[in-house]
Amino acid sequence: MTRADAVRALEGEYARLRDENNRAREERVAEVVAADPGIEPLVHGGAALFQRQARLLLAHPERAEALARETREQAAANDKALRARLRALGRPENYLDPVYRCPVCRDTGYVGYGVREACACFRQRLAQRIFDEASGGTETEQSFANYDESIFPEGGSADGDYSQKERSLMVRNLCRAYADSYPATERPGLLLMGNTGLGKTYLLNCIQNELISRGFAPVRVTGYRLFEAMRGAHFGDEEKQAAFQEMLSCDVLLIDDLGTEPMMQNITREYLFTLLNERQTHRRHTVMATNLNHADLMTRYGERVFSRLMDGMNMLPVELKGRDLRLYGRR
Ligand SMILES: [Zn+2]
Repeated sequence: MTRADAVRALEGEYARLRDENNRAREERVAEVVAADPGIEPLVHGGAALFQRQARLLLAHPERAEALARETREQAAANDKALRARLRALGRPENYLDPVYRCPVCRDTGYVGYGVREACACFRQRLAQRIFDEASGGTETEQSFANYDESIFPEGGSADGDYSQKERSLMVRNLCRAYADSYPATERPGLLLMGNTGLGKTYLLNCIQNELISRGFAPVRVTGYRLFEAMRGAHFGDEEKQAAFQEMLSCDVLLIDDLGTEPMMQNITREYLFTLLNERQTHRRHTVMATNLNHADLMTRYGERVFSRLMDGMNMLPVELKGRDLRLYGRR
């Protein structure tokens, strides 16, 4: 599930909540009107007054201010009468007020005029949803705490100085420091390289889960998904454009399997460069995992993208080495 999927699902949940609120209020209205039919004009009085104001405003735009004041006064009087009548019925005077879980956004999930911004309640639920999604998979939660170092072969030398186990632990610690110190990481970018089966995706999941549990909302994509957004953006698909925009501007972007996406003329290299350049210019955090080594990256993406991937100011490239862990059997 991408962040965009999660946002859509959550917007649906908010819409259902608003429907429920409306239904609950309508039931109360019906109950009150059954007990006191005379209350009905007062229940709908406020809305009727504002409709009347809108009609009059069209006919007499010059009286806008006076009309607004008049309507406010009449609405207040209507409200007062309604509350008195509810009390007389033995109900709380706010019995027919709209019901909101969140009074700030009135369960729309958004606040602000002009610039629409997600309400705090929405952001909090979104992070929770992404977290549930990420940790609700079939595998045990992939976290630094659950990181099992015993799966790495003890002996042998991955490179001259370190065994596979030692090197893997160093990389694990580095990823953990990155996730723990975010947003004050040493460098905003992290590039995990190495062959299949060395635990790169696991580490990416650990970073994602750690950030989410700290209340951040990282965006996670695969190279293929990234490519789809880039291609869509290139050909003017609005939804894909929005997705790519989100990838450009989100605080933390995690890209798994970079290098498995198709290479398409004028798209893959160009848009990847734009993405990296834009994110680095704004010091946004980006973590990537790829099976490609230095030479592969250079050949595939060319000089410009390669220099962004290896830019020492912005990016920390780390290489995992050793034998495919999956060959040691599943644990
Ligand atoms: Zn809210």
